[in-house]
Parts: sequence; structure tokens; C-alpha cells
Amino acid sequence: MSLPAPIFPPVGVCIYCRSDGGAEGLSREHLFPYGLGGNYVLPEASCAACADVTKRFEQVCLRQMFGAVRAQLGYPTRRKQERPNEFPMVRVKSEAEERISVVISEHPTVLILFVFEPPGLLRGQSGIKVFAYNAVWVSDITGSAFEKAKGVGSELPLVSHHHDMFAFARMIAKIAHGLAVARFGINSFEPVLTKLILGEENYAPDVIGGVAENGFHAIPDRVDFEFTCYFSLFNLGDTIYLVADIRLFAYLGAPVYRVVVGKVRHGVKDGSPTAS
Ligand SMILES: [Zn+2]
Repeated sequence: MSLPAPIFPPVGVCIYCRSDGGAEGLSREHLFPYGLGGNYVLPEASCAACADVTKRFEQVCLRQMFGAVRAQLGYPTRRKQERPNEFPMVRVKSEAEERISVVISEHPTVLILFVFEPPGLLRGQSGIKVFAYNAVWVSDITGSAFEKAKGVGSELPLVSHHHDMFAFARMIAKIAHGLAVARFGINSFEPVLTKLILGEENYAPDVIGGVAENGFHAIPDRVDFEFTCYFSLFNLGDTIYLVADIRLFAYLGAPVYRVVVGKVRHGVKDGSPTAS
């Protein structure tokens, strides 16, 4: 179920680099990716240079990681003519593996997401270079992945998936950052995600993770929304961090990602950072 999109006021500066956009101006940002059905839009929010950077990792996620899933579930695409009708998979036969392409109607598509440990920063660690994940979450989105696999001569619905965890983490970071700006205002927190989003530094496991240790058992029930996002505040020493819990594919019961969005600037009012 999609709710009517709220109207957010234009930001007027790039939410990533704070430039005014120069001669090219500022473009709107989809807060959840358009290619996953997102309809929340933040006007005047990205300069052309940053839009070019964010587009690239979003395309890795949307095409390589979620291409078959999006085609299977009928998510929108900006280039309908370019959407392939066949998607890769690995045919497994007597332990031999062979890469094949399968037409989408017969493709044993499964959605695969990782269940991460909580962000390093919230566990008192930093400088972690590798994502610690404690489980792989798999959803049989057509409800017939095993039969479909059999139909193409494979013993398993082994999707040839390319998982670029850092591209995925940057996409999650972009969602969390954009939603926080839309909700609280760009001046209400000191952002921690922008260098990661822009690819200038990689500290993703410090600031992005799951919601619980051994978090597979902490995945909440599925809900009637495509996406959910909840904000909360974490006190660490003298610093109050704004934290977002982001869930894509919430209606499929997918895992939740916890993201450290920024340091609260204006103090706390009613349990939320005050909007500027
Ligand atoms: Zn920018």
C-alpha cells in the first residue's frame, strides 16, 4: 500500500554538498528510489554533480541487485524499452553450476538481503572496514521459486546475484539522509552520511547496520507498507545522534537497517530534533 505523497518544502541547497546548484540549478530528490516505487519527493535538493554520483550507485542496486525483483513485482522503470525480459540465474545440476538467462515469467526470482550487525558507532566501535552480517534473508517473491527452478532444469533457485554491499549501503544512507532533511530540516543536524554517499570516504559499517545483534530473530513482522522509516535519538557521551530505522520491502517482511544520520544540533524538543 502506498500512502499519498506528502508535500515537502524545497530545500534550496544541495543536501549532499550544500552548493546552490550553480547555473544548472537543483533537481528534486526521490527519497525512496523511484525504481522501488518511491513517490516521496524533496524539491530543489540535489546539484547536478551530486545527482550524477548518487545515480550511479542507485543503478547498481536497482539493476544488478534488484533488476529481476523489480521486473517480477512490476516496479516502475524510467526506461521501459531498456528493461531486459531475461534475467540471469545459476543453474545447479549435480553440483555443477552454469550461468543462464531466463525469461522473467519463468525466472525463479528470490529477493536476497543481508541482516547486518548494528552500526559500529552504536556498538562503541569505529573504523570497521567490512560489514558483519549474521544472516542472509531470502524471500520467495513469486511463491514458486523452487518449481520455477525445476522448470529450467535447476535443483535450486540460485539467482546469479551481484551483491555490492557498499552500493547498497550508500543507497540506504541516501534514503536516511534525505528523509531526515525532509522531516527535520537540513540545519537541525550535523550530517554524518554525506561523505559516504558521495563516495569520498568509506565508513559504511560504522554508521549503517542492523537493529540487533544476531538480528535475524529481530526482524519485525511484515506490514502493509512498501517502506517504513522511524527516527530515534541515541545518546553517546555528550553527543545525541539522530538514527533512522529504514525498511525496504516492508510488506515482504524484509530486514530493517539502522542508520546513524547525524549529530543533533538544536537540542531536543518533544523527543525529536527541532526543525530549523
Ligand atoms: Zn551537491
